[in-house]
Amino acid sequence: MDIATRIRKMGFRKWYERQLIDSHLSFTTCVLCGITVAACLESITFTEFGWKPAALLAAVAGSVLLGLYSWKRYITVLQRAERYGDRSTCPSCGTYARFEILASGTTAEGPYLDPADDSLPCPWLRVRCRKCGTPWRMPD
Ligand SMILES: [Zn+2]
Repeated sequence: MDIATRIRKMGFRKWYERQLIDSHLSFTTCVLCGITVAACLESITFTEFGWKPAALLAAVAGSVLLGLYSWKRYITVLQRAERYGDRSTCPSCGTYARFEILASGTTAEGPYLDPADDSLPCPWLRVRCRKCGTPWRMPD
């Protein structure tokens, strides 16, 4: 489900809140992976090589990979939420997160975008304030 559909379904406030929860769960996973790596490295002894050091090394490798993935997901989801959050207030009346989505897309089109830039990391949304009717585009 794309961002516009999710925001239409649950509203911007709830979508934004869930993005923040999602990103911080990824951050927590990353921290736990770091603790796991430290604990496993502390326990490894190479005096006698057997299944235990091999299992600990495998746990370290898995934790490093999961930690890197979680860190990337944390940054990506948080940045995306902040990009939309920065433009969620009506530019005319200052009402927060009360808008309807008129259109959305992933290509650079519409009056607010540079036509040369068609590599948007987030889909654009054309929205209209429910209070005063002012249209604007998000994210920037
Ligand atoms: Zn407004």
